[in-house]
Amino acid sequence: MRAFVFPGLTTRVIFGEGTIARTGEEIARLGHSRALVLSTPHQKPEAEALAASLGARAAGVFAGAAMHTPVAVTEEAVAAFRASGATCVVSLGGGSTTGLGKAIAVRTGADQVVIPTTYAGSEMTDILGETSGGEKVTRRDPAIRPEVVIYDVDLTLTLPVGMTATSALNAIAHGMEALYAPDRNPVIVAMVKEALPAFRDALPVLARDPGDRAARAGALYAAWCCSTALGYVSMALHHKLAHVLGGSFDTPHAETHAILLPHTTAFNEAAARAALTPIAATFGGGSAGAGLWDFARAIGAPLRLADLGLTEADLDRAAGIALRNSYDNPRPFTERDIRDLLQAAWEGRRPQP
Ligand code: NAD
Repeated sequence: MRAFVFPGLTTRVIFGEGTIARTGEEIARLGHSRALVLSTPHQKPEAEALAASLGARAAGVFAGAAMHTPVAVTEEAVAAFRASGATCVVSLGGGSTTGLGKAIAVRTGADQVVIPTTYAGSEMTDILGETSGGEKVTRRDPAIRPEVVIYDVDLTLTLPVGMTATSALNAIAHGMEALYAPDRNPVIVAMVKEALPAFRDALPVLARDPGDRAARAGALYAAWCCSTALGYVSMALHHKLAHVLGGSFDTPHAETHAILLPHTTAFNEAAARAALTPIAATFGGGSAGAGLWDFARAIGAPLRLADLGLTEADLDRAAGIALRNSYDNPRPFTERDIRDLLQAAWEGRRPQP
């Protein structure tokens, strides 16, 4: 048994169907009487319906959340938050909306109730990435971590099939890197081991029938496990590369994670084979990297960075940026290694078992 530190889990979690109806009582339980409801423009109707259901507890709706949490949007939202008299935010949506809620909370001390509608997994973490002037800066701070998360299976029924696949692979990427994180602990590893077969079983069903409630429940449960893994241990090369591509080349978040995942897994498998055994055992394929590539293909996820509009010259630049700051990774690497990894992901090659 490895020595470990288990930091405890601090966020209150409510999981089930129809749980959005409990939002009001959770706001009150935190000691607040007025909350600002947040969403993207796309989910504004759902945010307005939630605000209507909250009655006097709703201080209004701010529906301007955007990918990568632009500081300009946050400033507008903080002004709306202060003007509304709210002391709490309710973030209804995917990682972009959760990010806006975190950005408001860290500036104002607001409590957060998060209602996630994708599998991206920001809700359980103390991580906030913000962009301004074309650069994304990420920080960790206990003040960023949401107080309450309400998982409602019903709200994921509308997640499009493509986003369902890529968002699930985004979640699996958190679990993958948690398995070899130097600060991992048995609780987090157990949660990842719980999540992998749940995603493996749910995703093929959802690819055929996105309205399958049992599969939606399994996928959302797995997403909670992976979000917790992201929130309580450190991440390495995979998250670094996804951050570089998203931050410097504006590639879409979930797709970028999905495409990189088999390649970053295969690269680190050479140094962390035992830790990654749960992935190989779950997805088959002869190795963790190949198994994930096979799974991604089977559920219709994109496989090639080239399809995100990146050029080979972009890969040269990305490899350089990825080497700028040092960070822990199970396998040491050179710029050439990263460039080769990106090439394989750009072409969509199946990693060798
Ligand atoms: P997103 O939140 O940008 O959502 C994508 C689109 O899908 C939006 O238009 C949204 O309104 C819509 N959508 C969301 N749920 C839906 C549903 N159930 N039905 C129909 N449409 C729906 O995408 P995402 O991948 O969830 O989040 C990406 C962002 O989250 C990135 O900015 C990323 O950096 C951040 N993130 C942060 C962390 C963290 O810990 N800080 C973790 C994961 C992701």
